Amino acid sequence: MTQTIIGLTGGIGSGKSTIASLFAKLNVDYIDVDDVAREVVKPGTELLGLIHDRYGPSMLNDDHSLNRATLRHIIFNDLNEKKWLESITHPIIRSTTMEKLHKSTSKYCLLVHPLLFETRQNEICSDVISISVPQTLQIERVCKRDYSTKEDALKIIQTQISNQERIQKAKYVIENTGNMNELGDKVYAVHQQILNNMNE
Ligand code: ADP
Repeated sequence: MTQTIIGLTGGIGSGKSTIASLFAKLNVDYIDVDDVAREVVKPGTELLGLIHDRYGPSMLNDDHSLNRATLRHIIFNDLNEKKWLESITHPIIRSTTMEKLHKSTSKYCLLVHPLLFETRQNEICSDVISISVPQTLQIERVCKRDYSTKEDALKIIQTQISNQERIQKAKYVIENTGNMNELGDKVYAVHQQILNNMNE
């Protein structure tokens, strides 16, 4: 079991998945909370059943998977529904995440979370890496990846703490403004720092 959990956080489109895969190449395990959040509402799960019971068949795609866009639309427009959804999903996401963290055997394990500080999950981490990107680049990358509009990208960014606040709270910062090669070098440097700090 890994004793050391290192948080990896950044806003939407900041490069969390990309950076987590670069750490994986260095044999560092990672648990991505967004992946866990998808897993717990897979077809056949109790949670998906509850969501279906509350909102009806429009919640499901033809293949019985969750229609995330429709659900997102509901919770973005109704705070009570957002609270209801969070009250049923968050505990299961948390326990599943903890189980996965405990199964990791790498020297340290990354906990990848877009809302690490907002949900106080940083408290279970030894240290945190924050990804820094200017908002314009963040929006550009999200629009390109998700075919979303600038307005929608901005709406999500506004529900998250600012880049600056995230940087202030982190021990390590990775600035993701360069190309993939530069990013690989930065990830390697932070990995070395983490290992050195663990050995002190
Ligand atoms: P997040 O997981 O934080 O939402 P992603 O890792 O999915 O962000 O990155 C958002 C988009 O930007 C993806 O399409 C990814 O391929 C791209 N991207 C991330 N970092 C870089 C980079 N340094 N250079 C070019 N594209 C990048």
